[in-house]
Amino acid sequence: MAGAAPRLVIAGAGLAGSLLAVLCARRGLAPLVVEARPDPRRAQPGGGRSINLALAARGLAALEYAGLRERIEPLLVPMSGRRVHEPGDATGRFMRYGQRPDEVIHSVSRDALNRALLDAAEATPGVKLRFATRCTDVAPADGTLILEDGDGHRHAQPATLVIACDGAGSAVRQALQARGLLDAREDWLAHDYKELALPPAPDGSHQLDPNALHIWPRGGFMLIALPNTDATFTCTLFLARDAAPGFAQLRDAASVDAFFAREFADVHARIPDLAAQFLANPQGRLGTLYCRPWVHGGRVALLGDAAHAIVPFHGQGMNCAFEDCVALDRLLGAHGDDTAAALAAYEAERKPNADAIARMALENYVEMRDGVRDPRFELQRELAFELERRHPARFVPRYSMVMFRPDIPYATALERGERQQELLAEFTGDAQTLADVDHARADAAVRARLTPLAKPPPAP
Ligand SMILES: Cc1cc2nc3c(=O)[nH]c(=O)nc-3n(C[C@H](O)[C@H](O)[C@H](O)COP(=O)(O)OP(=O)(O)OC[C@H]3O[C@@H](n4cnc5c(N)ncnc54)[C@H](O)[C@@H]3O)c2cc1C
Repeated sequence: MAGAAPRLVIAGAGLAGSLLAVLCARRGLAPLVVEARPDPRRAQPGGGRSINLALAARGLAALEYAGLRERIEPLLVPMSGRRVHEPGDATGRFMRYGQRPDEVIHSVSRDALNRALLDAAEATPGVKLRFATRCTDVAPADGTLILEDGDGHRHAQPATLVIACDGAGSAVRQALQARGLLDAREDWLAHDYKELALPPAPDGSHQLDPNALHIWPRGGFMLIALPNTDATFTCTLFLARDAAPGFAQLRDAASVDAFFAREFADVHARIPDLAAQFLANPQGRLGTLYCRPWVHGGRVALLGDAAHAIVPFHGQGMNCAFEDCVALDRLLGAHGDDTAAALAAYEAERKPNADAIARMALENYVEMRDGVRDPRFELQRELAFELERRHPARFVPRYSMVMFRPDIPYATALERGERQQELLAEFTGDAQTLADVDHARADAAVRARLTPLAKPPPAP
């Protein structure tokens, strides 16, 4: 059976697919959105683990562009910095992310955000959502998709345009790859992750500072925790798969308890069923997907994780996917009926930026699990803030460019960040404290080596 030909089919109603559906419908493209899972809004809320994400300025700007920011804001828990827990330090040392009051990131439940975006998509005239419908193949010549419903029935779905938002394991990408139409490579980390829920205190409050992202850096591995609105935290352990210490050694309750009691004693004491959770919860893999091209024949495009899945250490995968949605929508508008030109421009604009954040995300793993413990890192961070105060138009710390400045593309943040890092290393070379830095020379170097950035737009 062949369905009627909608103009646009979006594969995947996850974070990017549901946001893109809103934008495309407003542009009059009346998308059909097919999603492999059943409708998550029909599942019992609170039934599963609460898995959260960090939403930063790029993601917020995209939600604002879509007119959805107010709808999402009640779901957010602001985090103004990292709280770094060395062994034996249950309180942790607080390190602000930025210098201005609005320089915060936000913890948000993946499930609550997805539900809210699906509600928004459903409420937008023109959007048609079809759940429990898996895309299994695409014919690149004419865009026909092969869809499979929950009963295993298959049918062909014609489309003039297919946007694949079907995540890191994208079936659309694999269909193009199988026909030799794109190159894709996944670089897997030797480290995996596992999530654990840290419950509220007996009085119903958060057990840890709720306005920070907590990190327990241990050199080769780390634990992090992000707050939820229900006073729980979601902890994530990042650890080698096979090395020592590694997941392979944590196969029973005794080894899990011993590992957490030794490495993360304060967390161990706060999660009564830690070993049971650990043994029950899945162990996830982490990798970077490099893929080219992202578009084919002017009628198929990859977006979000389907095009460029990255490791989560900068908290930018979703933020980047949301930026993709805005860029594609803007370019579809700018190119009118010439969809092929819009898709080509989308890839040309976004691919260098996706490559840049992929690299910065990998670098951030080392910073989070190790760098934050180094006094030199702390001194360089202080100097970066000082240079930003002295030269706000020229020097913005790289972390701030990525997290708080959507007007600065990722590729620019990477390139300027490298020049800034050279400068920080040079001027903290022999210094023990900020007072030892030769500020006159540092000022001159900033003026000579960093061109002024365009003025940021006013904060909303
Ligand atoms: C541990 C971890 C922590 C993370 N933390 C952060 C963070 O703090 N901040 C951040 O910005 N990003 C974070 N990310 C990354 C973020 O989760 C992704 O970048 C984001 O979900 C990408 O959105 P997407 O819509 O492209 O893909 P997804 O959210 O994966 O959505 C894909 C959708 O497609 C559906 N689907 C799959 N196959 C098919 C098919 N064949 N047919 C139809 N539908 C299909 C899926 O069911 C799903 O609904 C993290 C990732 C991980 C693994």
